[in-house]
Amino acid sequence: MNNKPVVIHWFRKGLRLHDNPALLNALEKVGESHYELRPVFILDPWFVKNAKVGPNRWRFLVQSLQDLDDNLKKIGSRLFILKGSPTEMFKKYFKEWNVKKLTFEVDIEPYAKTRDEEIKKLADHHSVTVVAKVSHTIYDLEKVFKANGNKAPLTYVKFQSVVAKFGTPEKALNAPGKLPKQCQTLLLSDKYNVPLLEEMQVDLTELGKELYRGGETEALARMEKYMSQQDWVCKFSKPDTSPNSIEPSTTVLSPYLKFGCLSPRLMYQRLHEIIDGRKHTSPPTSLTGQMLWREFYYTCGAYTPNFDRMVGNPVCKQIPWKVDPEDEHFVAWKNGRTGYPFIDAIMIQLRTEGWIHHLARHAVACFLTRGDLWVSWELGQQVFEELLLDADWALNAGNWMWLSASAFFHSYFRVYSPVAFGKKTDKHGDYIKKYLPILKKFPTEYIYEPWKAPLSVQKTAGCIIGKDYPERIVDHDVVMKENLAKMKKAYQGGKEEAPEGEPVKRKKSASNESPPKITKFFKKN
Ligand code: FAD
Repeated sequence: MNNKPVVIHWFRKGLRLHDNPALLNALEKVGESHYELRPVFILDPWFVKNAKVGPNRWRFLVQSLQDLDDNLKKIGSRLFILKGSPTEMFKKYFKEWNVKKLTFEVDIEPYAKTRDEEIKKLADHHSVTVVAKVSHTIYDLEKVFKANGNKAPLTYVKFQSVVAKFGTPEKALNAPGKLPKQCQTLLLSDKYNVPLLEEMQVDLTELGKELYRGGETEALARMEKYMSQQDWVCKFSKPDTSPNSIEPSTTVLSPYLKFGCLSPRLMYQRLHEIIDGRKHTSPPTSLTGQMLWREFYYTCGAYTPNFDRMVGNPVCKQIPWKVDPEDEHFVAWKNGRTGYPFIDAIMIQLRTEGWIHHLARHAVACFLTRGDLWVSWELGQQVFEELLLDADWALNAGNWMWLSASAFFHSYFRVYSPVAFGKKTDKHGDYIKKYLPILKKFPTEYIYEPWKAPLSVQKTAGCIIGKDYPERIVDHDVVMKENLAKMKKAYQGGKEEAPEGEPVKRKKSASNESPPKITKFFKKN
């Protein structure tokens, strides 16, 4: 048992030192004395069992933890990695480390809420003080909820009007400097080190190219790189950015915001420092507007039961989608084998790189659901959950409902063409050629519709449709009309086909046939 009283700061999201009010609280004096700080991250087996995490996101997480550990060392501390369920871990360490206080960031996801309530009870039992602070969102979602009459604002405009009353958000907080001697972390044992990916048994052969390195250091550098392009920030308008540019046309700060390597409040503040006093675009399409979309979905997610599913979700239209995870159209979609090169290239980019542009997400989500394949948005959500570096519970569910016209957006008759949409920003199909090299030699004329190419052209291009690249699995012009009729019926309340009581099943791995190898790591420890 450690004699010196300890305060644990529990990192979950919020993997940063800057603008971290709960971490700063952990460093506050109690009376005249300081506690020794022990920052902890728990590798919780729940996430392996219930959440889908692909290898690219494991890598991003491990890099973020390593960076956090490095930054903590610079201020006289370190990160302790614990392996097991949070309840088991705290039962053990509250006693063993003589813990007096526990601090963490508020998390609104359903599992996190239940987990944190359990930990609060346990802390109470051990006379450990708990302090939880809001810092994963710009606004305190509970305040938004209360200010809106104890309900979540269900439109963006309503959300804006509610938060406008709060005035300018408080300034982001600085990272702590060198810790006072008494707070510095003394326990140096290697057993708590950040594990290597290899030790976690992530199959390194499944990793894609590393384009976005995890961690706070990278997050701040990336944000500043974009903030230095002041003109670009002021003129940013989301609909004018390109879903299929070779270099991303938006910031790709989403993975850093998801893991909390970057404070949304800091980013919002930096954006305002740039646009205030200059001519600039405005929400919802501006960059500040993008940040508010995040807040909007977080608020809806926090206060809507069953937000990530259709059945039992009061904001979600009940639509009789196909819900079979073995459905051949769904399998073709998730593997980038629909025969529509624009759709397939996006799915390959997602699988290999872990990030795709917002409008690319629109295209593939619309295609999977109301546009073409009539497959449940929940299955698409599961694939995104596994493959996106930025997979974020509230944002993923909220946007999938939007795209499938299940909630928030109701112009279901506005359908993206899997051919014309991509052509608008990439006439020659360079993006398709990058992600589907089998089509590299196809003439521009046929790159979006290779099934139209005469056999002689296919032969010259070295790619026979139906053999080397799939035939299209549906005829968009035909299925789109059929789906529109089904949507119309669902909107009119046609109940007879609704899959009442038949929820979408969560597969062990929605996009991969073998279960993630990382399971073994948790079993061993
Ligand atoms: P930028 O345009 O640079 O925007 C800056 C930040 O604003 C983003 O990093 C993000 O945090 C926020 N933001 C932007 N657009 C949205 C939006 N529509 N909704 C909420 N926040 C937004 N985003 C996720 O972070 N995680 C998800 O799991 C996720 N799933 C999605 C699923 C679907 C079907 C769709 C259509 C969109 C989804 N998005 C998700 C929203 C959006 O596509 C990404 O946030 C954005 O593309 C990230 O790229 P960026 O950082 O370059 O965005």
